[in-house]
Amino acid sequence: MSQQPRQQSAPPLDVLNPATEEIVATVAAATPADVDAAVTRAARAQARWAGLPPGDRARLLRRFAAAVDGHLEELARLEVSEAGHLIGDARWEAGNVRDLLDYAAGGVERLTGRQIPVPGGLDVTFLEPLGVVGVIAPWNFPMPIAAWGAAPALAAGNAVLLKPAETTPLTALRLAELALAAGLPEGLFQVLPGTGPVAGNALVEHPGVAKIVFTGSTAVGRRVWAKGAAHLKRVTLELGGKSPNIVFADADVEAAAAAAPQSFLDNAGQDCCARTRILVQRDVLDRFLALLAPAIESVTVGDPADEATRMGPLISKAQRERVRSYVAPDAPGIRGKAPEGPGFWFPPTVLTDVSPDAPAAVEEVFGPVAVVLPFEDEAEAVRLADATEYGLSGSVWTRDVGRALRVCRAVRAGNLSVNSHASVRYWTPFGGFKQSGIGRELGPDALAAFTETKNVFISTEGPQ
Ligand code: NAD
Repeated sequence: MSQQPRQQSAPPLDVLNPATEEIVATVAAATPADVDAAVTRAARAQARWAGLPPGDRARLLRRFAAAVDGHLEELARLEVSEAGHLIGDARWEAGNVRDLLDYAAGGVERLTGRQIPVPGGLDVTFLEPLGVVGVIAPWNFPMPIAAWGAAPALAAGNAVLLKPAETTPLTALRLAELALAAGLPEGLFQVLPGTGPVAGNALVEHPGVAKIVFTGSTAVGRRVWAKGAAHLKRVTLELGGKSPNIVFADADVEAAAAAAPQSFLDNAGQDCCARTRILVQRDVLDRFLALLAPAIESVTVGDPADEATRMGPLISKAQRERVRSYVAPDAPGIRGKAPEGPGFWFPPTVLTDVSPDAPAAVEEVFGPVAVVLPFEDEAEAVRLADATEYGLSGSVWTRDVGRALRVCRAVRAGNLSVNSHASVRYWTPFGGFKQSGIGRELGPDALAAFTETKNVFISTEGPQ
């Protein structure tokens, strides 16, 4: 894995394959001095980039998308080896990066301001790039989440410094190489592997970084916002979740039970949108659980590179211990299988007898663990759905369209789905209410989030 030379004063990062615990790469970690030098290079590149005709910037981003498309399998294999993602999911993720770049490229020539009627002249607005943008990514979806920030930021005329998570820097480094090969100016898109408290913090504190797009835990997100405030730094924060999956008695209960496992087992539950609180109307609780049990017990957990596998390992030993701390060995529930031996495995688990305020029911476990909570009526369903500090996603299963809309409008969360668990599409806005974040990514307004609006008045009546 080639990368730019760095000062060696930060210990290098060992990248482990979470399915085997073997070291797959060792990567130099960025120091604050590296971050400072990168900001200087990025600022220079950004000035040139923003000066290019929009059509040229769009073309270069499309070439970057094509380069990603030409290396989908390689990127997917890297994601399997560093993050333990299922190979099919990893291919989708690499394709998602390509699509995000193409979609953002389509916005470059459409990033228009407005003309506002005023007396005495002409008033126009411009959407100016911010300058240098820092993207701090988590390990759970290293490629797509990096691109959620980087693609629209670049398209809007900014330079991007990407700090991947400590455990998953490899796809990010490869994407930076592909960007250069595609013709993006040197320094415009740089990757700074390193630890959060050193490299991440240096980006947050650097006065030359205009905005931080942070995706990660709510605790660190709060710190990033507070530190960035010293420079009035713009932020987008995509944080944790504890999303409800609300199943009403009038739903297609078979379909709801069939879809429930994947809604919290995707990426071994390490998904900010995981539907880990399954709220079931009491009239259909027994039927739902009878359908859910065999579906959970039959999930194939194992080698993520095997196309037949349905769930892979957790990212690390520490993560597995954290998940384990939420599940007492004798807790009543449904349990699937998991391999023995090397690898950070945990079985799919549904806890069926937990209090609504137990830690497993309100805290983000970030593993393959869900709780089932019964409810009596619509009002109680909404109350339970909102009974966490988070508000990222949620699903409503019902055949009553009026109820579906009422409940979606009532639940305090950013992304709701009806008779579906799909939350994330690059062409629709995504983000959280409450402690799940600030700002929105993706969708038609993604580029605007990386601009400042400038208003210009031109007098037609002489000096005024
Ligand atoms: P994390 O907060 O530990 O780390 C996220 C990133 O922040 C990493 O790159 C890390 O190195 C960096 N970081 C850590 N300390 C820092 C500091 N002091 N200053 C600057 N950067 C710092 O989160 P994680 O464990 O990597 O990711 C899991 C979390 O991410 C979960 O809570 C999950 O819900 C959340 N997440 C949210 C979304 C969303 O879109 N809302 C998407 C994916 C993951």
